Amino acid sequence: MKYIKNAKIILKDRIVEGKALAYSDKIEAITCECAIPEGAEVIDAKGAYVAPGFIDIHIHGYLGEDASDGSAEGIRKMAEGIAKNGVTSWLPTTMTVSKAELEKAFEVISSLMEESKTWNGATILGVNAEGPYINPKKKGAQAEEHILKPEASFFKKYASLIKIATLAPETDENLSCIRELARDTDILLSMGHTDATYEQAIEAIQNGVKHVTHLFNAQTALQHRNPGVVGAALSTDVTAELICDTFHIHKGLFSLVAAAKGDKLVLITDCTRGGGMPDGEYTLGGQKIYVKGIECKLEDGTIAGSVLKMNDAVYNVLNNTTLSVPQVVAAASLAPAKAIGVDKTKGSIEVGKDADLIIADENFRIKKTIIGGEIRYEA
Ligand SMILES: [Zn+2]
Repeated sequence: MKYIKNAKIILKDRIVEGKALAYSDKIEAITCECAIPEGAEVIDAKGAYVAPGFIDIHIHGYLGEDASDGSAEGIRKMAEGIAKNGVTSWLPTTMTVSKAELEKAFEVISSLMEESKTWNGATILGVNAEGPYINPKKKGAQAEEHILKPEASFFKKYASLIKIATLAPETDENLSCIRELARDTDILLSMGHTDATYEQAIEAIQNGVKHVTHLFNAQTALQHRNPGVVGAALSTDVTAELICDTFHIHKGLFSLVAAAKGDKLVLITDCTRGGGMPDGEYTLGGQKIYVKGIECKLEDGTIAGSVLKMNDAVYNVLNNTTLSVPQVVAAASLAPAKAIGVDKTKGSIEVGKDADLIIADENFRIKKTIIGGEIRYEA
């Protein structure tokens, strides 16, 4: 048994101080510091937060690598890199690339899942497939030439690997792909890169869509007589992703979305391979992107994913809302865990769950990342 003492332990609904967190590969107990046996392995958090590790369910790239590249080395490098930002598990996220490239990326990611449980980085929980079944009108930075008409059979082939699939429901005739995937798989169906009207979005939700990809971005906007996908997302109980870099979404909207979505708000990074890299020129789904500060754009100025780090997303929301620390941390841990159905083992500090933990200062600068009870990063 190992212990963390002298910490502010962030539980689902409150912060506990003056107790020790006991763990092995699982969280064993929250106990009296007096119960730590002589000679036990103890981390002194020195008053810092201990939080559940973050779960990034929408991230394409980091440190020059991209999940769509089909490179095992690249995925390893990303996993190790994002662990430094407090991410303990993740879904490598593919883009709209060719089917052959997607299949290769899926095979490579699938082949790494077992190894990722014990490697020196964030654990892979599956894949997020963003496209290819999207609307060219809302393609954003996705490559138009690879956009296809929705077809359930392709995703069904990878149904145990794919945890989230982004589709544009209005391109799915009779919603047949959405209905079939909802009936036959556990894939979380997400609306995104979509030109759907409010009515089409509601119909999609009634037929199996339960999630919205990067709310506000690459979808029909909220207008008071034409509420669009954003209106459907805010007025139903779907989970909604938000890129809280203060560039994709104005920081003034964080509170509004949090109030509307409650515990259905999911912080994501949507990070590209420019993440963790100096300003400069990179690629995304075969297209050139330009990174400058917190901005990441195509040549024509279209916003192209982000360079956001998950701990910065948490800091940005804390800093720009009156939400409590447990609420904001949950949006980066428990909410994504619930969305993809892994909350029995991950997403919060509860006895019996995996010991995926971070130690962070009050600005969520990461001091230590612990995955499955092992320290995988130390500042
Ligand atoms: Zn994305």
